Amino acid sequence: MSCLFCKIVAGEIPASKVYEDDRLIAFNDINPQAPMHVLVVPKQHIPTLNDLSAADDELVGAMARAAATIAKDRGFDGPGYRTVFNCNAQAGQTVFHIHLHVLGGRVMTWPPG
Ligand code: 5GP
Ligand code: ZN
Repeated sequence: MSCLFCKIVAGEIPASKVYEDDRLIAFNDINPQAPMHVLVVPKQHIPTLNDLSAADDELVGAMARAAATIAKDRGFDGPGYRTVFNCNAQAGQTVFHIHLHVLGGRVMTWPPG
């Protein structure tokens, strides 16, 4: 198993965990791009958004709801926060195990870089 996030899920590599349930884990990004920068990661290995099927709809919904709960717990539900899925090279995906970035605590610009 060479996937970094599978190793974090398995507890083989430490992470600063902020949430966990039977199918998801969330932890602080090692290189935060905002005061809050959490990654919501399914325990199941899915390389990219392109690999999702209808069977994953509930899982992805749970990821979005976990992101909203994590942001709300930090008081960012009102001010706002950003969620991002990067998919493949041009979007800057570097870890090929899907993850939802949850960023908050500063003003975000648009368009993104
Ligand atoms: P991507 O670029 O694939 O959308 O996002 C991967 C994210 O994983 C990056 O923001 C990067 O900082 C983060 N990351 C990479 N290696 C580690 C690690 O070992 N631990 C944690 N917590 N985050 C990591
Ligand atoms: Zn994986």
